[in-house]
Amino acid sequence: MQQKRGVLFVLSGPSGVGKGTLKKMLLDEFKDQVLDSISATTRKPREGEEPGREYFFISRQDFLDRIANNDFLEYAEFSGNMYGTPKSYVYSLLEQGINVIAEIDVQGALQMFERMPDCVSIFIQPPSHEVLEARLRGRATESEEKIVQRLSAAERELSYAMKYRHRIVNNELKLAYEELKRIYLQYTTEANK
Ligand code: ADP
Ligand code: 5GP
Repeated sequence: MQQKRGVLFVLSGPSGVGKGTLKKMLLDEFKDQVLDSISATTRKPREGEEPGREYFFISRQDFLDRIANNDFLEYAEFSGNMYGTPKSYVYSLLEQGINVIAEIDVQGALQMFERMPDCVSIFIQPPSHEVLEARLRGRATESEEKIVQRLSAAERELSYAMKYRHRIVNNELKLAYEELKRIYLQYTTEANK
């Protein structure tokens, strides 16, 4: 019997909105069915991040070489660093019938919509600008300069929400996760395919 292909989910939203938190909840609940697409980035690891788990941390020169090699499904520069989705890894998971979740910025998502038109795109929105700022500051992982940069990028990013198939407002975490799970099941449960 032919192996059913996995479903590719694309998750975007402004920095600090809760994408990583929601993604982790989905990965934890559906461990055996869905995997994270681990991106390459030129950003430095944050405390607690491990190479090959959250990201493959590489130099800018390596990143440029990989672009030249056509290794990325999409890539973009975000807040002074490069980020890209490794093509062969994602293709191989999908071919094995494993679902993949790619948490990427809006510029990368637009490229993904062209190359992978069947992907299920989800945009996470904050309940307000104030809440977004409070979450980003509360996470305390970025310098003040980077926080300001990320908040100003957020304005532009929010204007892309309508280009996604689904939108979720992450106000109450539990409710936002229920919505994400409902969308996930809608595309991955046999009866709904
Ligand atoms: P992103 O991956 O979009 O940059 P994170 O998942 O790192 O965002 O979340 C940013 C911060 O906000 C984290 O400290 C996280 O614990 C917190 N957070 C996420 N969702 C909620 C929520 N619904 N309510 C309150 N805090 C949240
Ligand atoms: P962070 O530095 O907070 O981990 O990520 C910054 C931004 O880069 C987030 O919007 C995140 O979704 C995005 N990002 C992470 N990996 C990729 C990727 O492979 N491609 C693109 N285009 N964006 C990515």
